[in-house]
Amino acid sequence: MTKRSIRDTDIQGKTVLVRVDFNVPLRDGQIADDSRIRAALPTLNLLRGAGAKTAICSHFGRPNGQVVEEMKLAPVRKRLSELLVADVKDAGGPAGELPGQVISKLDPGQFALLENLRFDPGEETNDRVFSRHLGSLADIFVNDAFGAAHRAHASTVGVTEHLPAVAGLLMERELTMLGNAISGASSPAIAIVGGAKVADKIQVLKHLATRVDTILVGGGMVAAFYVAQGRSGGAAAVTVEEVAAARALLNSADANIILPADVITAVEFKIDSEASVDESSGVPATGIILDIGPRTSAEYSRIISLAKMLIWNGPMGVFEWPAFAAGSEAVARAIASNAAATSIIGGGSTAEIVGSLGLTEQVTHVSTGGGASLEFLEGKSLPGIAALDDAD
Ligand code: AMP
Repeated sequence: MTKRSIRDTDIQGKTVLVRVDFNVPLRDGQIADDSRIRAALPTLNLLRGAGAKTAICSHFGRPNGQVVEEMKLAPVRKRLSELLVADVKDAGGPAGELPGQVISKLDPGQFALLENLRFDPGEETNDRVFSRHLGSLADIFVNDAFGAAHRAHASTVGVTEHLPAVAGLLMERELTMLGNAISGASSPAIAIVGGAKVADKIQVLKHLATRVDTILVGGGMVAAFYVAQGRSGGAAAVTVEEVAAARALLNSADANIILPADVITAVEFKIDSEASVDESSGVPATGIILDIGPRTSAEYSRIISLAKMLIWNGPMGVFEWPAFAAGSEAVARAIASNAAATSIIGGGSTAEIVGSLGLTEQVTHVSTGGGASLEFLEGKSLPGIAALDDAD
């Protein structure tokens, strides 16, 4: 079901509550990466252009329903003011009378930012009273927080019972891009799936297998696939369930599942472990698989270069450790080099790799949602999206 967009909504002069995801990383009280704030600017500028009075709200960290000094949004409001070249007012709250008073005094085109939503215990419990309070602050609700769409909270679900609720521009772009990636419209469509464990990715693998032509597998889950093939998976513990899940995927008639022909292993799970290259047929019983091998990097890069649609979720190895980062970097570069393909990076650590290599501009879309993009790729309905008004 297509959801109603802010573009199809009369926002002229209205008071609008916008849910954003400003859960940015802080280092020594400074914002280390402001991309989540930047990602909300198109919607905020659209609202300003329409003379809306805009109340912005976000969660930040995990204060567990209490006011935590270090989790106040002051640094975010400062950075947002700089980026918007506007004085974003402090609306306080998030509960109580202050937000309503500040918002009612806004001039058309002005902004106010509520305090961290998770300071109120009603946010995460999707409490009726807190939802009604949020709903009382505006005429229209815009959800631009794709990164929080997998949570059924007051500011993503409860509030939609009280106001017309539409998707912001970022939310719309996320849904269009991730939706296109698994629509089956472009072929060959290739998914690259990695990460630590099969258990974390089994639903993604199952769902993508019905949607794409080929899945390239990497990461720690390679061990379970090797064991399912009757090979050695090395020293990492794999459960009977993981092996059974891997076997079921290999035996299903859905997508072509490709496993690494070689891997990088180490005897200890440590940053400075000595790395060795092993063929898939000869993973030593003492070796822990920590990356895909050089032949596999080359082969995966070749396959990626031929794709028309690419979706990547999960690193090929322990990319945080330089000796085991080469596979993920090769995949990132191959995706960025294929200018003929639509390329979607599925958030979380995968987005981090692409960003750290400076390749973000060379891919079609980097999702701003880690957990949310994962659940989307698993084929689940995200509560924050389901709650929005349907398009006419
Ligand atoms: P995810 O965010 O679920 O995609 O998983 C990312 C994590 O998977 C990263 O922290 C990687 O270090 C980890 N990872 C990738 N490959 C392996 C591996 N072979 N063994 C253990 N962890 C891995």
